[in-house]
Amino acid sequence: MEQVVEHAGVDIWAVISERFAQIKRGLRRLFGCWHLKLSLPFTRGAETYRTCLTCGARRRFDLDQWTMVGDFYYAGKQNSALDGGAISGSARSG
Ligand SMILES: [Zn+2]
Repeated sequence: MEQVVEHAGVDIWAVISERFAQIKRGLRRLFGCWHLKLSLPFTRGAETYRTCLTCGARRRFDLDQWTMVGDFYYAGKQNSALDGGAISGSARSG
């Protein structure tokens, strides 16, 4: 009398869901994020941008026209050197 009891040490659904997460990440990497979920515009220094809540990409935001301009970019690729720390107090005439 053979009794086959599959006693899997791992939860198969956990494996499957993990696989799906990997596939979703792979697809996102292949086709790119659609940047559908964006944060509200942030103003940091002289720059205003919105951040994609899904992948973290940023896009410049024009406050005057209240629209996004330019392409998405990733903040991690900027220079690590922090410039612009010194604020010049030169007042422009006009
Ligand atoms: Zn995105």
